[in-house]
Amino acid sequence: MRTARRIEKLPPYLFAEIDRKVAEAKGRGADIISFGVGDPDLPTPQHVVEALIEAARDAGTHRYPSYTGMPEFRKAIADWYGRRFEVRLDPDTQVQPLVGSKEGIFHLPVAFVDPGDVALVPDPGYPVYETGTILAGGEAHLLPLREQNDFLPDLGSIPRDVLERSKVLWVNYPSNPTSATADLDFFVEAVAFCRRYNLLLAHDAAYTEITYDGYVAPSALEVDGAEKCVVEFHSLSKTYNMTGWRIGWVAGAPAAVEAIKRLKTNIDSGIFDAVQRAGIAALEGPEGPLRDTVGIYQRRRDLLCDALKSMGIVVEPPKGSIYVWVPVPVGHTSESFTTFLLDEVDIVVAPGNGYGPTGEGFVRFSLTLPDDRLEEGVERLRKVVT
Ligand SMILES: *Cc1c(COP(=O)(O)O)cnc(C)c1O
Repeated sequence: MRTARRIEKLPPYLFAEIDRKVAEAKGRGADIISFGVGDPDLPTPQHVVEALIEAARDAGTHRYPSYTGMPEFRKAIADWYGRRFEVRLDPDTQVQPLVGSKEGIFHLPVAFVDPGDVALVPDPGYPVYETGTILAGGEAHLLPLREQNDFLPDLGSIPRDVLERSKVLWVNYPSNPTSATADLDFFVEAVAFCRRYNLLLAHDAAYTEITYDGYVAPSALEVDGAEKCVVEFHSLSKTYNMTGWRIGWVAGAPAAVEAIKRLKTNIDSGIFDAVQRAGIAALEGPEGPLRDTVGIYQRRRDLLCDALKSMGIVVEPPKGSIYVWVPVPVGHTSESFTTFLLDEVDIVVAPGNGYGPTGEGFVRFSLTLPDDRLEEGVERLRKVVT
């Protein structure tokens, strides 16, 4: 038996060593507190669960769903865009539901990147932009996100010959893992850049609803001309604590949405209709649960940032996402600080270099652990004098 070469081209799994150490620590009975994974600990709002139960009882939801999603769900998405961003979308040509946004993020390069083509990918960034590109036979050109540039890519520094082969520019704000945000001016610049070089701008907007201190994140689709060259990925996963449900969507340029649609009819068979009805309930239901969720993360963020300060690590509390991106103390690498926290205080964090080489020198703390565990974790951090 021989696997395909494309499998060998995938980057190695960088958390393997950490996972091994965590398993070993658990084996000796350690009480591990994990700030590692970004998977909301809070439950899905009750009215969304009820909508699923009711819809699942209706045999009309039990057959193959439509490839293009329920018209009512697409309309709920378009209406939400109108309310939230004042962006008008045609639900028939500009909205495509996805089996979780990761599904569409992974498949986008299959529709846009031929062998020899390049996708411009943030470094550090969500790994799927790069792996999707590699598995489509393309090349990822990494765009370093540096603190001195507010973790925004320096589009002007991309070499001309790379740009000539590029098809897609990926961006993600509020960002995983850096928790940085971008204002509308950045998207204006990015859209102009993409129109100039004939690129698709793909904005992963998974965290636009998880923002703090009154900050409101923009949509790339607010920019004039966006309908010509922008797609935006959204997900119910983080906004409504629905990671297990697998539901999201892509919206924007009709030509791009059409290409993704055409591809997907050959891959999956849509999202369970009952889950789409629950998605409608989430988008059209009361906003209290989201406000509560954001309030809980904001309090956790403040507790964590205070504790880090007492260790001598000063981080500006992020305005969005469910992460805090933390520079490691002098003398440490991402890996050594991760190991130090695990060995000394049984705390797991994600080493920054796992998200790309420019992530070296940082670790990512996720805020998705129950309050009592986070408080216990914070107490432990305060005891570590570096
Ligand atoms: C969590 C996350 C997603 C959402 O993935 P789903 O497949 O919709 O659950 C997308 N992008 C980023 C950067 C994320 O962190």
